[in-house]
Amino acid sequence: MTALSLDGSYGEGGGQILRTALALALCLKRPVRLFNLRARRAQPGLRPQHLACVLAAAEIGGAKVEGATLGSQELYFEPSTVRPGRYAFAIGTAGSTTLLLQTLLLPLLLAQAPSRLILTGGTHNPKAPSFDFLAQAFLPLLARMGAKVELNLLRPGFYPRGGGILEAKIEPTEKLSPLDLPERGKVLEIQACALVAGLPRPIGERELKELAKALTLPESALRVEALTGCGVGNAVTVTVRCEHLSEVFTGFGERGVRAETVAERLAAEVKAYLAAKVPVGPYLADQLLLPLALAGGGRYLTLPPTPHTTTNLWVIQQFLPLACKLRQENAQRCWIELTSNAPS
Ligand code: AMP
Repeated sequence: MTALSLDGSYGEGGGQILRTALALALCLKRPVRLFNLRARRAQPGLRPQHLACVLAAAEIGGAKVEGATLGSQELYFEPSTVRPGRYAFAIGTAGSTTLLLQTLLLPLLLAQAPSRLILTGGTHNPKAPSFDFLAQAFLPLLARMGAKVELNLLRPGFYPRGGGILEAKIEPTEKLSPLDLPERGKVLEIQACALVAGLPRPIGERELKELAKALTLPESALRVEALTGCGVGNAVTVTVRCEHLSEVFTGFGERGVRAETVAERLAAEVKAYLAAKVPVGPYLADQLLLPLALAGGGRYLTLPPTPHTTTNLWVIQQFLPLACKLRQENAQRCWIELTSNAPS
C-alpha cells in the first residue's frame, strides 16, 4: 500500500498530528510519511516524548521505521498487525504518559486480545490531558462506545522529575459504537481537588479558596491531596459532574505564578464551559474525534472548535472517508458531526 504523506506543520503543527497519524496508521495498517514534524513548536521535530510515542507504536505494531531520532522532522512508519500484550514503556523524561496512551489506546482496543500497559513519565503535565481528565471525562465516554479500559495511577509524576506511573488495562473491542452527545443535562455537582507533591499544603488551600470564590463551591466540594515521595508538582482539577457526562478541567502550578492566578485561569475555563451549556469542553472535543472516526461517526455539541480540533479533523480525514459538519449555533456553541462516506 502506498504511504500517506502528511505535512506536520498543518494547522496546529504540534505533536497531536504525529500521535493521531501513528494511531490511525496502526489501526488501519497504513504506512505514513510525515514531514515538517512539530514545525510550529519552539523546539521543532521529535522531542523525547514524541520519540517515545514513535518507538512504542513501532513496538506494538511491529513497524518498519525511518527517521526515529531526536529532533527529526521526518518520519516513515510502516506498521504490520498490532500485537496486543503486556508492555512497559518509559519516556525517560517527564514527558506525558497520557499523550503516549493517546497514541496506543485505540490500536490496542481494536486488537484481538487484552493488553496491559505500564507507562512511566509525567502523569500531570501542562498542555496534556491529566490522569484525572482521562479517568473521569474521556474514558467514561469511550466506555459508552463499548470500550473496556481500566486506568490506574500507580504514582503521580510531574515536570521536571517525571517518574509517574500509569497503568492501563485494555480489553479488546470488536467495533466501537457511535456516540451522540447533544446535551449535558443538569449540573449535579462541581468538585475541586488540589494535588500538592513535595510542596507546602497551603498552595493547594489557596487554589481551592480562590476556586470556591469564583465558582461558588461549598467547603465539602474542596479537597487537598498532599503527596510525598513523587517529586515536586502541583495540579488542580475541577470536575463538573452532569446528568449525561462529566467534564474535567486542570490547572498546573508553575514557578513564579501565584496559586491564586493558577486558580483564576482554571475558573475562567470552567465558567466558559458552564456558560455555554454544552456537554463537551474544548479538550474532549479534539480527543473524541479519533474514537468517533473509528466508530464510523457520531456528533456532539461543544464550544467553538480549537485549532487542535480542526487540525485533528484534518489528519483523520486524510486517513478515513469521513464527512464532517461543523455548525456554529452561536458564539459559544458549535455542533460537530462526523459521518462515514465509506461505501456500505
Ligand atoms: P499537542 O499540543 O499537539 O501536543 O496536543 C496536546 C493534546 O493535549 C491535545 O489533545 C489537547 O486536547 C490535550 N490537552 C492539552 N491541555 C489539556 C487539558 N488541560 N486537559 C485535557 N487535555 C488537554
